[in-house]
Amino acid sequence: MTDSSSAPRKVAFLGLGTMGGPMAGHLAKAGHDVTVYNRTAAKAEAWVAAHGGRSAPTPEEAATGADVVFLCVGGDDDVRAVAGEAMTALAPGGVIVDHSTVSATVSREMDALAREHKVFFLDAPVSGGQAGAEKGILTVMVGGDADAFAKAEPLMACFGRSVVHMGPSGAGQLTKMVNQICIAGLVQALAEGLSFAQQAGLDGHKVVDVISKGAAQSWQMENRGHTMLDGKFDFGFAVDWMRKDLGIVLDEARRNGAKVPVTALVDQFYADVQAMGGNRLDTSSLMKRLTR
Ligand code: NAP
Repeated sequence: MTDSSSAPRKVAFLGLGTMGGPMAGHLAKAGHDVTVYNRTAAKAEAWVAAHGGRSAPTPEEAATGADVVFLCVGGDDDVRAVAGEAMTALAPGGVIVDHSTVSATVSREMDALAREHKVFFLDAPVSGGQAGAEKGILTVMVGGDADAFAKAEPLMACFGRSVVHMGPSGAGQLTKMVNQICIAGLVQALAEGLSFAQQAGLDGHKVVDVISKGAAQSWQMENRGHTMLDGKFDFGFAVDWMRKDLGIVLDEARRNGAKVPVTALVDQFYADVQAMGGNRLDTSSLMKRLTR
């Protein structure tokens, strides 16, 4: 393989939000030549002041001359707009890596469009949240062409601890859907357990400390159990994003016939949190429904 993780590469990063900002920062820190684009230009200017590199006023200008273009934006239509523009500027053989969580359908659509432009599109959603992005220890689940993956993998390793090619276009997003299904039911169960502990007059913190050493242990319990008891719900992954993700899961399940009744119910519980004004609270805020 000609690409090595240490060779500086010319890359672009589009979308410098909670996740994209720090991910792009890791690319710059590793010595790559990074051009950034952000819809709200002030964020791109602040990123350049902190990390060096340069900013461009449009996705097309940011992507011009880049080998690999990363994006981390919002939902399906955002990816259509941003990746669709970037791919017109890439030289043949260039690779677009989409770290947004979107449908497998839009990923396959962009993959087909990219091939028309003689470039590649990888769906590469991430897990690990804001803290994972800041520490550069994300899990990256990738779908698409294997050679394009080999070209982009050393770059993704700048912010990913585990970067895995899951299969053809859409396979990364399908894997992320499994991730979100597993989280949804688990967070609700944790919220129910902790609110039960409170109702029973137990010391919730002591309960978390002891049961997190046993069979009920989970990442959510260890990282969110105490903060849920303290009513702190400010950890980066917003309820609005989770509803987007669960909507994608439920659509896909309708297509493939998977039964996801608990996920469908928890999606409605998140709708309750939104109705309580919790759109930007993090996903552990399911606790608020039970303690109001
Ligand atoms: P965020 O903080 O809201 O940032 C979104 C970024 O996308 C901003 O830079 C925004 O630009 C840009 N953007 C959105 N729509 C756009 C459009 N149509 N054209 C141009 N730019 C657009 O979101 P985030 O938390 O970083 O999440 C980004 C993606 O990663 C989402 O798909 C989310 O589901 C996924 N994700 C998030 C987390 C997490 O913990 N936050 C974890 C895993 C995956 P402006 O600055 O102009 O608004």
